[in-house]
Amino acid sequence: MAILVYAESASADGQYKKAAFEAISYAKTIADKTGDTVTAVAINATESSDSLYKYGANKVLKVSNDALKSFSPNAYAKVLSELKDGDTIVLPATNDASSFAPLLALKTDATLVTNVIAAPSNVAPFTAERRAFSGKGIETVEVTEGAKVVTVLQNAFGLKENPVAGTEEAANVSVSDADSKVKVVKVEQASSDKIDLKEAEIVVSAGRGMKGPENWGMIEELASLLGAATASSKPVADIGWRPHSEHVGQTGKAIAPKLYIAVGISGAIQHLAGVNGSKTIVVINSDAEAPFFKAADYGIVGDAFEVVPKLIEEVKKYKGM
Ligand SMILES: Cc1cc2nc3c(=O)[nH]c(=O)nc-3n(C[C@H](O)[C@H](O)[C@H](O)COP(=O)(O)OP(=O)(O)OC[C@H]3O[C@@H](n4cnc5c(N)ncnc54)[C@H](O)[C@@H]3O)c2cc1C
Repeated sequence: MAILVYAESASADGQYKKAAFEAISYAKTIADKTGDTVTAVAINATESSDSLYKYGANKVLKVSNDALKSFSPNAYAKVLSELKDGDTIVLPATNDASSFAPLLALKTDATLVTNVIAAPSNVAPFTAERRAFSGKGIETVEVTEGAKVVTVLQNAFGLKENPVAGTEEAANVSVSDADSKVKVVKVEQASSDKIDLKEAEIVVSAGRGMKGPENWGMIEELASLLGAATASSKPVADIGWRPHSEHVGQTGKAIAPKLYIAVGISGAIQHLAGVNGSKTIVVINSDAEAPFFKAADYGIVGDAFEVVPKLIEEVKKYKGM
């Protein structure tokens, strides 16, 4: 039998997302314990399957179908349910995959386990840790019987190279436009060369302490030097200083980068809910009593307008610029 994995690719260029490699890495860890193989499902992807073999996909099922060009939860759930060949399906916890995971679980009569963060401690019964309560807790769940659909949180389990000699096959699926009950008809992206916030390993984030949108230049410069994505607190997005796509927290995106640098953000519980999975948190705040310092690994008490330019200077020196 095979563990089926949804190898998500970007609709813009057909390249696999890092989250796809993480999902395959996770599936391979289960397969090594159960004796199953790993089959990746690639929908309208253009990238070579070599990158999927590298993380342990024994087989890649290539689905090319015009009805799937525009993302539709119903149609994607149908494809995965038709190709299922075992009792486990693994998806990345991306926005798209998270939106069709419940439909897929329903179609395949499976238990849904979302946002897992670590390799299962046991495969029979399947026992896994997942992020719960808006990131404030970690829950250990057990699937005692039957099939399961598992979503893997980005940047939590991580990438594990496990090269195998894989094979590729074209897969025929019976989907048509009639299967798409909801369709994406338009995507507006602020900038196509920006690093995806949910996939970024480093995030530089800022809040109301920046005083106004005109001061974000230094945040963007620091992010660019570090190869980081930019994020913001909710009020900053609400008042239009930054796009809502950058808002992290309970009501925004939940992220788990290796390094989260928070500038001029107080650290309210609703903000922490979206970032407390970060491996290392650095807080820059002028108020030594700011709650964020309690969650920080490193803290700098100081004025952002002095500290950030100094950081930029030091990074440039380190890079020999
Ligand atoms: C239901 C609900 C959901 C919410 N969801 C979210 C969410 O998803 N994400 C989110 O972020 N918030 C969320 N909030 C809002 C949250 O409670 C806080 O109000 C918000 O996070 C505060 O944003 P902030 O830290 O940017 O602003 P502030 O609370 O105003 O903090 C600004 C900080 O900047 C510091 N500062 C000021 N000047 C400087 C300077 N020169 N240099 C350095 N530091 C400086 C201050 O000391 C202060 O700590 C939610 C609230 C509710 C009620």
